[in-house]
Amino acid sequence: MLYYSTNHKAADATLEQAVVNGLAEDRGLYMPYQIKKLPQQFFDDIDKLSFVDIAYQVANAFFGEDVDADALYDIVADTLRFDCPINKVEEDIYSLELFHGPTLAFKDVGARFMARLLQYFIKRQNKEGLVNVLVATSGDTGSAVANGFLGVDGIHVYVLYPKGKVSKIQESQFTTLGQNITAVEIDGVFDDCQALVKSAFMDKDLNNHMKLTSANSINVARFLPQAFYYFYAYAQLKKIGKEKDFVICVPSGNFGNICAALFGHQMGLPVKRFIAANNANDIFYNYLQTGKYEPKASVQTIANAMDVGDPSNFARIYELYKGDHAQITSLISGSTYTNEQIAETMKQCYAETGYTLDPHGACGYRALKEQLQPGEHAVFAETAHPAKFKETVEDIIGAEVAIPERLAEFMKGTKLSVECSKDFADFKAFLMNR
Ligand SMILES: *Cc1c(COP(=O)(O)O)cnc(C)c1O
Repeated sequence: MLYYSTNHKAADATLEQAVVNGLAEDRGLYMPYQIKKLPQQFFDDIDKLSFVDIAYQVANAFFGEDVDADALYDIVADTLRFDCPINKVEEDIYSLELFHGPTLAFKDVGARFMARLLQYFIKRQNKEGLVNVLVATSGDTGSAVANGFLGVDGIHVYVLYPKGKVSKIQESQFTTLGQNITAVEIDGVFDDCQALVKSAFMDKDLNNHMKLTSANSINVARFLPQAFYYFYAYAQLKKIGKEKDFVICVPSGNFGNICAALFGHQMGLPVKRFIAANNANDIFYNYLQTGKYEPKASVQTIANAMDVGDPSNFARIYELYKGDHAQITSLISGSTYTNEQIAETMKQCYAETGYTLDPHGACGYRALKEQLQPGEHAVFAETAHPAKFKETVEDIIGAEVAIPERLAEFMKGTKLSVECSKDFADFKAFLMNR
């Protein structure tokens, strides 16, 4: 399968090139020329299949032309070593819990899948030398990527994070690992980390010295596997006879997750409509209302993984529907919530149903409460375990949130960070010596 750039000014790429390069040369995002439909038989039998078998069928439609079947099955099975259950919160509203992976983040699936696919391509090329993944994080992405790539040979990961600006729990998830993971503690803010990564990709000396790539949701191998979740959600609803008029609601930041669900829809997944739930960062919401896409500086919220002022995967959604605003608004609606509304929703949901929402999932739940129509059955993506935002959640709901064993284990480890200033010259010198 060939991939083209959403900016239409770069050469077509193979899957391997798209995964290794991340972004196209014209700074556009890679899109596949075709999205294959899955046969009706697959949907008829989907409730009898396991998560791994469902995901393999989906992965095969995307990647089957370019990856050997046994290898692809192994990659899928290795990625999905956990479940992704639905949980009834109230009549016709189900929480799709995406947080049962190694770092309790839905990003675990894309990170692991990308790590294994990259490894497959490196082995196939049989080339000497490492591929180096640079990733800037404000918390969640760094832990998912570090754990996804941990122990994968041929790849070294550098996680850049702002000193003193990530929570202790998050920091422990990527600074204690060792092996092929190096955490770089930058004396600055998140934007400084991101600027260092961008400068590194553009620096000639560095690129001659080492092979560099990125691992955020612009990468096709990171965002597409998130489609697995939505096929499995449909299967679970079908099992209990609740799959009719299926609505999917996704709390969105960079829009990689909902974009994967939209790809699923293009493959034939029977979804009636989608809702993109936002916090105060309302760029997509405004686009739906006005037809104008106007990025702006992000604002900080309690659902901070969605604090994005220029969602990178918007370009993919726009491309998927050829920029047809009417078509987009007939399939996708939006919502936007303030911190106060998010907190109120978490509190109310806990008091009325006993279900603990995290601030991100709360946006999704509230959008369904407000917009679900009679006869519809819906899932909202619960994107993070509430314990990851322990203090915030406890303050709001007035009850204790237990830390899962897996998180507690990370916190016992020893911090192994390298310190660095926010000057590119220092960061470059550090990498040139590796
Ligand atoms: C990354 C993240 C999001 C946003 O997902 P996108 O794919 O960027 O839209 C939402 N919630 C949590 C908890 C996240 O970590």
